[in-house]
Amino acid sequence: MKKTVRDIDVKDKKVIVRCDFNVPLKDDVITDDTRIRAAIPTIEYLLQNGSAVILMSHLGRPEGRADMKYTLEPVARRLSELLGRDIIFASSPAVVDEGVREKAAELRAGEVMLLENVRFRKEETKNGAEFAKELASLADIFVNDAFGTAHRAHASTAGIADYLPAVSGFLIEKEIRFLGDAVEDPKRPFVAIMGGAKVGDKISVIENLLKKVDTLIIGGGMAYTFYKALGYEIGTSILDEKSVELAGDLLKKAEKAGVRMLIPVDVVCGKEFKNDTDTAVFKSSEMPQDMMGLDIGPATVELYKKEIFSAKTVVWNGPMGVFEMENFARGTYEIAEALSQSDAVTIIGGGDSAAAVESFGLADKMTHISTGGGASLEFLEGKELPGVAVLEDK
Ligand code: ADP
Ligand code: MG
Repeated sequence: MKKTVRDIDVKDKKVIVRCDFNVPLKDDVITDDTRIRAAIPTIEYLLQNGSAVILMSHLGRPEGRADMKYTLEPVARRLSELLGRDIIFASSPAVVDEGVREKAAELRAGEVMLLENVRFRKEETKNGAEFAKELASLADIFVNDAFGTAHRAHASTAGIADYLPAVSGFLIEKEIRFLGDAVEDPKRPFVAIMGGAKVGDKISVIENLLKKVDTLIIGGGMAYTFYKALGYEIGTSILDEKSVELAGDLLKKAEKAGVRMLIPVDVVCGKEFKNDTDTAVFKSSEMPQDMMGLDIGPATVELYKKEIFSAKTVVWNGPMGVFEMENFARGTYEIAEALSQSDAVTIIGGGDSAAAVESFGLADKMTHISTGGGASLEFLEGKELPGVAVLEDK
């Protein structure tokens, strides 16, 4: 277990917190402030317990230059509204300089300061020791609460912990607890549902999960690579050519490990990759040459729902079909709906799966929706995330 802000004395300390304020912006207006809201509990806790709080984050990909398109100024404004207090925005393009150091030195308990985009410095993504030291020099304690970047060893997520005591905020604590327990100590039966576009991206996740789950369910675009491995006709469906052999290996591995691996038994096909196209449902082994699979079929939905309702833990990553198109969203919706009704611990990882669940209005019916796409995948792969590894153990 990693220490959290609760496990250390933060009173009268300067605490530097790595947040994930990488919010979507359109013309300088934040279109979704979920990530800012998510950071509030940790910030409030620190303020209530007598800390002076220094916040830092990246935004977009300014590639090591002070590109003002990516300034955190809009975040400072929104954060101030949400917290109902002033935020000192230390707007230096160098992120840390003499002026910022002075401001940090003067910061009192109960005050909040936000640094400029850490990716304005090219040392950030290279985990440069000098920059990590500069950041550390501002504070007494480092708190990492940015799960979305915890899989990256950057100066502000990992390097800084070489110079300061490091603990997690509430967001990372929650992610480790839910994802960790689900994978390491699941209530059984444990079912994993994998979907999305490409198998290639998720081979190592599947390999790791095969060691843990009772049942592994496959859906989405990756199903056709498995079909190919089984020698089925897949028409014009998306295919991950270089992963066909691996898909075959995974099927064999599952059998050896005594894991039930289910692939869709029927497919909703379309003539073209668009919503308004001719559609028809085929058995998995009977797909026509001139159509593509765009969703799991109704028989598959029923089969998968049964698995969900008999499970005690379900981890889901990757949509079952092209859910962005209404006519091919049903499989993904039905799975989300079944998860929302089940009594199992339900964990959703992956950016698009999370977005799908949100768009169906079912988010608050899940046990946990991970906020980190790439980070949650690496966690499910069984990798230790650098931004978590650097935190002190309890
Ligand atoms: P996540 O972000 O949840 O990890 P992925 O990024 O792996 O999920 O995959 C999501 C994408 O997969 C979606 O954009 C969806 O349209 C696409 N997808 C799902 N099924 C198919 C399919 N049959 N053909 C093509 N694309 C698909
Ligand atoms: Mg995705």
